[in-house]
Amino acid sequence: MKKSKSSELFDTAKNLMPGGVSSPVRAIKPYPFYTKKAGGSKIITEDDEILTDCCMAYGPLLLGHSPQCVKEAIRNQVEKGWIYGTPSETEIKLAKIIIRDYPSIDMCRFVSSGSEATMAAIRLARGFTKKKDIIKIEGGFHGAHDGVLIQAGSGATTMGVPDSAGVIPDIVSHTAQVPYNDLESLESIISKSDDIAAFIIEPVMGNVGPILPGDDYLQEVRKITKENDVLLICDEVICGYRVGIGGAQVKYNISPDLTTLGKIVGGGLPIGVFGGRRDIMEMVAPAGPVYQAGTFSGNPLSMSAGIAMLEYIHKNSLIYQKLDENTRIIHESIPKGHSCSFVRLGSMFKLFFRDSPPRNYIEAKQSDTQKFGEFWKKMLKEGIFLPPSQFETNFISSAHTDEDIEKIAGAYSRCL
Ligand code: PMP
Repeated sequence: MKKSKSSELFDTAKNLMPGGVSSPVRAIKPYPFYTKKAGGSKIITEDDEILTDCCMAYGPLLLGHSPQCVKEAIRNQVEKGWIYGTPSETEIKLAKIIIRDYPSIDMCRFVSSGSEATMAAIRLARGFTKKKDIIKIEGGFHGAHDGVLIQAGSGATTMGVPDSAGVIPDIVSHTAQVPYNDLESLESIISKSDDIAAFIIEPVMGNVGPILPGDDYLQEVRKITKENDVLLICDEVICGYRVGIGGAQVKYNISPDLTTLGKIVGGGLPIGVFGGRRDIMEMVAPAGPVYQAGTFSGNPLSMSAGIAMLEYIHKNSLIYQKLDENTRIIHESIPKGHSCSFVRLGSMFKLFFRDSPPRNYIEAKQSDTQKFGEFWKKMLKEGIFLPPSQFETNFISSAHTDEDIEKIAGAYSRCL
C-alpha cells in the first residue's frame, strides 16, 4: 500500500528531531498528520484531507486560522520590519489594551511564550517577597520550566518530585502542590510555612480539561492568600480573552497580584506576558533587581498581531455569546446513557469518559483514556480534529460556522 505523505514526512522527521516533532503532544501515533495550510475552522493536510479543527493550536486561535484582521496587521508590519532590538510603539499600544482590560494589571512585560511568562512571574514573586517556596495546583501546567515540572498526583501536601529527567530535585523541593477546588489543603499548607512566595493557579484548569472552579473557590483562594501574605499568580495563558475580555479573573471577580497571559494576546504569534501590581512590577529589571530579558521580547510582529486580534475582539464582543451557544449545541448532541460527562465554558469544552465532571486532576485521571483514544480516532475519521489527549481542552473559534457546529455535534453523537 502506498504510504501517505504525512507518514513519509514523519519517517524523515524522526531522524532529524527527537520524536519527530517540535513539541511532544504533536507526536500522534502511529504518525501525526502534517498540515499543509489552514484557514478559518479548517486544516488541510499534506494528504489533502480537510479537517474541522477543534484543537485550534491549543488555544491562540479565538478567531480561527489566519483571520483577515491579523493577516493584514502582520503584512503591514512585515513591510516595516519584524525585529528592531529597540522599543517600538506597538508595545505601548498592546500594553494599553491589556492594562485597560485587566483591572489587576498596572504594568506588564512582554516575553515570547507562556512558559517564559510564568517563569518570570515566579522569580518576581520570590524577589518581591524574599521567600522561597511556591504552591501550584496538582496537575496544573504552567509551561516546561524546571520549577513547575512536578509530577502531579503526588500527595496533596507533600513537596514535589520532578516530572522530567534533568530537573534537579532541590529545585522542585521548593514547589508544593494542592488539589484544585480544595481550600482545606491550601489553608493547611499555608499555615505550616512562612516561606511561601506565591500560589500559582490556572483559574479555570485548561490543561486537564477544562475543570471549572466550584462556587466561591477562587474568591476564597484570593482571601486566604491575601490574609497570609502569599502572592496570587493567575495563569491565564489559556483563559485570558478566551472566557471573555479580562479573562477568568474578571468573569469570577478576583484580583490577583500577578497575571500571566499568552496565546490569544499574540494573535497566534509567539508571545507571553506577565503583569500585575505596580509595586511588584517595578521590581523587574531595569527598574528593579529581578532580572528578566529576551531578544524577541515585545517583537513588533507579535505586538501588531496581538493588537489586531484584541481590537477585533473589542469591536465584536458578541462572539463570546455565539461561542457559548455553539458549545451548548455540541453538549446537547451527546446521547444520554453513556458513562461520560461534558464540561464546557464558553468556547472551551471536553467530553470526559467518566460519570461526573471532574473537580480536580485526580478525578480527571479516573477517565477511561482507552475509550477516549477510540473515540478520538473515530472523530478524526469523521473529519474532526480534537486535541489527541483526554486531558487537553477542545476549542472552537468564531470562524466555526453553524454548519461546522452541526457537523461536530453530529460526529459526537455518532462516534459515542
Ligand atoms: N500556562 C498555561 C496555563 C498553559 O496552558 C501553557 C501552554 N499550554 C503555558 C503556560 C505555557 O505556554 P507556552 O506553551 O506558550 O510556553
